[in-house]
Amino acid sequence: MRQAIAEAVVDDDVLGKDPTADQLERRVAEMLGKDAALFFPSGTQANQTGILLHTRPGSEAICEADSHVFHYEYASAAWLGGVQLVPVASRRGCMNPDDVKASVRPGDRHHPRTTLVCVEQTHGASGGSVVPVEALIALRAVADDHGLPVHLDGARLWHAAAALEVPLSDIAACADTVMVSLSKGLGCPAGSLLAGPADLIEEAWTIRKRLGGGMRQVGILAAAGLYALDHNLERLREDHTRAMRLFDACTRIDGLRPVRPDTNTVRIDVVRDGLPAQEVSRRLDAHGVWILALGPDWLRAVTHLDVDDDGIDRAIAALREVLT
Ligand SMILES: *Cc1c(COP(=O)(O)O)cnc(C)c1O
Repeated sequence: MRQAIAEAVVDDDVLGKDPTADQLERRVAEMLGKDAALFFPSGTQANQTGILLHTRPGSEAICEADSHVFHYEYASAAWLGGVQLVPVASRRGCMNPDDVKASVRPGDRHHPRTTLVCVEQTHGASGGSVVPVEALIALRAVADDHGLPVHLDGARLWHAAAALEVPLSDIAACADTVMVSLSKGLGCPAGSLLAGPADLIEEAWTIRKRLGGGMRQVGILAAAGLYALDHNLERLREDHTRAMRLFDACTRIDGLRPVRPDTNTVRIDVVRDGLPAQEVSRRLDAHGVWILALGPDWLRAVTHLDVDDDGIDRAIAALREVLT
């Protein structure tokens, strides 16, 4: 990947002339079955652009209650777009279509207008859970009934497609705009893309510019993305297998209650009085094992291309030691 970055053919992407960025954008648009795609420095900026595209100030966007756009984007929808997010609780990221329907405003003189439905695939907070395609189709139907667009936060869409063994476009078809990240499981230093209909992606270019996301010789990052699609996509299932092995071992460690992973993320609840997840994370760190404490009583372990079988063995050994 470093070699591909070094050898990238570049030009000024703010003038729309970088051939490598262009190549990546076309390739991702095609993979997702959309007209066009646009490269962004971060997933957050691409998600927020998606929200800004579909909404207007003083309106509401429905999202999953533990989603990235709700918890981890610093209330940007409100800050940037004047949009009120309406969280809907779910089972492992999978919102009930009836709950979404109930959250759509009636469109009268007393309530704000609903302008968007956001979904997340895979669902990070519940441990990289895969939302079944049928569930997405049901959500799409509710949105269609109310004339609402759907934005899909697919930072880890690659993992969902690998787990479901379906093309990315089968999942992306359920949404108008789709965000995918190169900087998570694919191992790139930075970059996400927003894909959708040609007119919206044209408008997204303007929003990206406003948000300060226009970058000049961005082909050096796009080259990393192209490399990742060629070399790091097919191997994602290895990460899923390793996550499952970590899960299996954790089921046999007293004080841990892991959630069976669908993909490369293992949510591990820590169920021992007086032992906060943060403390477990700190002690693991001393063993050279990095597992984030994302809540007071749960850890999130992520397998990726820098974690091999030995790494999983070391993580298991460290967890055993820390919890004895
Ligand atoms: C990481 C992530 C993002 C944001 O990506 P950044 O590049 O960190 O801004 C958005 N959604 C989900 C589900 C993510 O995991």
